[in-house]
Amino acid sequence: MLFADVIGHDDLKKRLIQSVRDSRVSHAQLFIGPEGSGKMALALAYAQYINCTNRSETDSCGQCPSCRKFMTLTHPDLHFVFPTATTKKVDKNPESDLFIADWREYLTDCKGYADLSDWFTKLDIENKQGVINVRDAATIMRKLSFKAYEGEYKVAVIWMAEKLNVQTANKLLKLIEEPPEKTLFILIAENQEELLNTIRSRCMMVKVPKLTYQEVQDALVDNLGCDPQEAHDAAMLADGNWLLAQRFANDKEDEKLYANTFQKWMRYCFKGALPELIDFVANDIKPLGRERQKEFLEYGLNIFHNSLLFNNNMSDEVMLPTDEKTFTQNFAPFVNRKNMAEICELFEESINQIERNANASIVFMDDSCKMSKLLRVK
Ligand SMILES: [Zn+2]
Repeated sequence: MLFADVIGHDDLKKRLIQSVRDSRVSHAQLFIGPEGSGKMALALAYAQYINCTNRSETDSCGQCPSCRKFMTLTHPDLHFVFPTATTKKVDKNPESDLFIADWREYLTDCKGYADLSDWFTKLDIENKQGVINVRDAATIMRKLSFKAYEGEYKVAVIWMAEKLNVQTANKLLKLIEEPPEKTLFILIAENQEELLNTIRSRCMMVKVPKLTYQEVQDALVDNLGCDPQEAHDAAMLADGNWLLAQRFANDKEDEKLYANTFQKWMRYCFKGALPELIDFVANDIKPLGRERQKEFLEYGLNIFHNSLLFNNNMSDEVMLPTDEKTFTQNFAPFVNRKNMAEICELFEESINQIERNANASIVFMDDSCKMSKLLRVK
């Protein structure tokens, strides 16, 4: 992958490139940032750049034998470790190497914009908890003990490092602390709190910020050929998440789904109408599935934050499509200093619970009852 194919992040790209040009590549780096920000895409561009034999000041050449192999993800010095679980094909002892063909196909299809739930969907293990297995640690140790085959650097990309179990992490720690010569570890993670301290403290942190509205909008127009108005609406709702932006741009109904569902929900909560809320949770929420339920709650948080902007006379900064802006403006008076913190906490906690496989109907019914009270706090 070329840096030019990674959306946005101009400053970060420059810093990464400079570190290679100055020969100060830290041997263990943790790329941390939110979903859809492009951490994996950056890691792939970085790894390719380090090993390119004809790199320029701004990018790898894309033509040399090394670049060609990096672009097909088949370079012998590029190694991947990622979460797996048992599947129909691999019914025991799962580890990354057994899924490498699927993985290359997936990374190619998503153009480096990898997402855990999409990956699990690809493997058809949505309802299982994928982990990075201790067998992966043994395999990567073995692979890295050899000299680089062709490239200058051996690169091990450990994707979703929060899925390292303690046993795996302990095995890897030694390797990260005393790596074989010319070895680069790139760990990729989304959630700093879920990461083991021992791992975090041994890596140089590379913060990958969420994409800006403008970066997302431009990419929708330039890469996907969206018309500017369409790109504008999708970028506003996506809140820096490229994966979400693409989905919204491709599917108008999807884009409006969260808005319509949220507005309906808040109306029922405000009325405190229990039978309607029960129906709503059964018919509108349950069919969404876990990942979309989480996205829906995040959409809600975004509306609350924008409500606060209205309340503080900062409506110029509200980033929402027109009809949602109108809804939020009318809704804003019900979100105030007294209930805002509690509302946000409630939604954040619900996101965590859904992530941990809690029963969504119970979570949403509980939220509904609490919201009915909170929206009445004046
Ligand atoms: Zn090259």
